[in-house]
Amino acid sequence: MTKLTFPKYSNLCGWNAMLPPREPHAALDGSLTVDYAIVGAGYTGFAVARRLQELDPQARIAVLEATTVGEGASARNSGFTGAHVLPRNASIEMAQKAQVQTTFFREAYDWLMSIVRDNGIECDIQQAGSIRGAATEQGEASLRKVLEVAQANGIAHSVLSRDDIHRRIGSPYYRFGIHMQDTVLLQPAALIRGLADALPSSVALHENTPVTAIRRKDGGWIFETSGGVVKCKQLALATNGFIPKFGYLKSRMATIYTYAAVTEEIPDGRLGEIGESEAWGLLPSHRLGTTLRRIGRNRVMVRSLYAHEAEIDEGRAKAMLRDRFERRWPNLKDIGFEYLWGGTTAFTMNGAPWWGQLEEGLYASGGCNGSGIAKGTMLGRHLAELMLGKGNDHQAMAQSMGSASWIAPEPLRTIGFHFVSAIERRKAGLEI
Ligand SMILES: Cc1cc2nc3c(=O)[nH]c(=O)nc-3n(C[C@H](O)[C@H](O)[C@H](O)COP(=O)(O)OP(=O)(O)OC[C@H]3O[C@@H](n4cnc5c(N)ncnc54)[C@H](O)[C@@H]3O)c2cc1C
Repeated sequence: MTKLTFPKYSNLCGWNAMLPPREPHAALDGSLTVDYAIVGAGYTGFAVARRLQELDPQARIAVLEATTVGEGASARNSGFTGAHVLPRNASIEMAQKAQVQTTFFREAYDWLMSIVRDNGIECDIQQAGSIRGAATEQGEASLRKVLEVAQANGIAHSVLSRDDIHRRIGSPYYRFGIHMQDTVLLQPAALIRGLADALPSSVALHENTPVTAIRRKDGGWIFETSGGVVKCKQLALATNGFIPKFGYLKSRMATIYTYAAVTEEIPDGRLGEIGESEAWGLLPSHRLGTTLRRIGRNRVMVRSLYAHEAEIDEGRAKAMLRDRFERRWPNLKDIGFEYLWGGTTAFTMNGAPWWGQLEEGLYASGGCNGSGIAKGTMLGRHLAELMLGKGNDHQAMAQSMGSASWIAPEPLRTIGFHFVSAIERRKAGLEI
């Protein structure tokens, strides 16, 4: 059996560090037999577990997580979510496809929000919308196509000039923008921690329990963890970019690291320098661009950079994120970063996820790229239904999302990643 790897980060998650400390669920200690096991306690894994429990309340269900909830990628993200699908490189031809996808996103997003409401999960949800911002002429041209899709699909939005954006975020860096009213901004570590606490009591969650090997046995699945052996009838891999470490989907997805930093508190007398909007978030017009968010009353978050399969040296990541921050707010050069962290996401060549059955009794969902809060929830929920043979719209959902296309094996993959990144970085220019 091959030994598996799982994400190990060199920095703690800043969102988690901003919350009070939390006691993790006990690691597995001994052997365990369940009906359904899920590897990975992120949005996808929790959606699988909760939906399985809803549809089969008597089932024994276990979720195994290598690290702790609040330190995985589901906590390390930028906290933008919503029910509308609006592709970054939009074309009017894609509007119809996006509309079909939105019906599935809407169902999952409403389900997620009902779990949040019913369980009183406090994750600082702000109905602030999001700005799609363009700093360059090419960026503006691409956003104008996005605008056509927003108009065609009736997505609530308004167009922003340089002055409008300047007023909102305190920086004159962006020349054109679209404000998408329905995007929600939230505290991702608080959400994923809340979802862990809200799991039904029949779902056992074991943190600090890396799964190190899986194999098929006696018509079910058996797997090794750091704390003991688990036997189950059906197994779901909800490990996103780490599914290939189990030997599956190696030619479909790769692990990408991306980085975020949050400033120290900006003094009250200078809050005008980060704009007059109390809450704002900005997404780039280019896929390699920089995401920005005002955090709480007085901090700014910057998310940027991509690395293939391994983390970037911390000093280098910090220098590059400072460059992004200082180009936008040169007046805030004296404000340091208090938190800096990397997070993984799964990259797929065509941007589509991989979702479905790998072998008898073995299922997987991954490749959410940068929108896993809603998409991971949607795919996880449908995966549970597929496992139970319930529901009848999986194929329509899967067809609307597409399926991850082939990626070249190593060493061509790494060479290709560096080559394409260099070209795209040049194209993105000041959007980075
Ligand atoms: C910096 C950053 C910003 C982002 N911004 C956004 C955003 O604004 N909005 C948005 O929707 N998405 C965003 N994303 C993407 C989003 O975080 C992911 O799509 C989402 O986390 C995917 O959820 P998941 O449950 O599929 O996988 P994950 O959250 O990666 O969860 C998988 C879990 O599996 C565990 N695991 C892996 N291997 C093993 C093993 N062998 N044994 C046991 N456990 C294992 C991992 O520790 C992890 O906790 C961002 C991502 C990053 C990194």
